[in-house]
Amino acid sequence: MDVSIVVPLYNERDNLAPLHHELVQVMRDLGCSYEILFVDDGSTDGSVEELRAIKTLNDHVRVFRLARNSGQTAALACGFHHSTGDIVVAIDADGENDPHDIPRLIAQLKDGCDLASGWRRERWRDARWTRRIPSKAANALISRMTGVVLHDYGCTLKAYRGDLARRLRLYGEMHRFVPAIAAEEGARITEVEVNFRPRRTGASKYGPGRILRTLLDLLTVRFLSVYSTRPIQVFGLIGLLMGALGGLWTAALVFEKLFLHQHLGNRPALLLAVLFVVVGVQLVSLGLIGEMLARTYHESQAKPVYVIKEEF
Ligand code: UDP
Ligand code: MG
Repeated sequence: MDVSIVVPLYNERDNLAPLHHELVQVMRDLGCSYEILFVDDGSTDGSVEELRAIKTLNDHVRVFRLARNSGQTAALACGFHHSTGDIVVAIDADGENDPHDIPRLIAQLKDGCDLASGWRRERWRDARWTRRIPSKAANALISRMTGVVLHDYGCTLKAYRGDLARRLRLYGEMHRFVPAIAAEEGARITEVEVNFRPRRTGASKYGPGRILRTLLDLLTVRFLSVYSTRPIQVFGLIGLLMGALGGLWTAALVFEKLFLHQHLGNRPALLLAVLFVVVGVQLVSLGLIGEMLARTYHESQAKPVYVIKEEF
């Protein structure tokens, strides 16, 4: 199998047939073997019936129905894990991504990249203040925090080297951070400008709540990428500094009490110094617990702390 196309969908009944039609056209023109994996993320609008009809038309189609609505990330993960192609392409079901961009994404992989990510440059052309600037700020923040500089983290349309897609472990709403997670695996990433079209029918599945959730996920990604194998280095360092400061301060106060006969009962400094010691000890302990968790985390999923690029 050359190319697997993964389509996560939730209540997209009327968008499926047109998308399928376009995908088939593009793949025929490309002339390689392909499969289309539709992952129905617990739709309730009759998308399944539509998918059944499409399946009877086209043997290249495979359909996975999730037992309940599990989110776009989980739907993508399901498609990735069941894909068999040398190349895996992910695309939105609502028509916002243009299948005609797929050949250009695939071409980037043939040039030696592991991940070609779409950049919907024209997306918010008409909504400068409400959408374009916030989106720019979000992408800049994510780029800075993860160290993988991209213009458009949110674009589903991406082409992956097959083994990379199948190796990815995605949780929560992590599909937005796939490039950062892939970079950790040592992937070479490039960005390709793609067409953006408004969704055909139906409504977006996300509201403003996504901003906060994205921020929390960003925190997780950042923490996992930088410190997941050495949590004691973050917590332990701060803990030691605070503990040392608190210890010295407490010692100074004890000296004042014993030798200079000062009253400490009415001095906030005492409270603060003791607080520093307690917090310091707790942070060091947290770091140690983190170290134990890190070992469980890596060993329970047989996840090595390194990624081999090549072996002779
Ligand atoms: N989607 C999904 N499960 C969900 C929410 C969304 O599979 O719980 C799919 C949805 O059908 C679409 C894609 O993920 O194909 C992107 O969703 P949407 O268009 O709502 O997001 P937006 O384009 O507004 O970022
Ligand atoms: Mg959409």
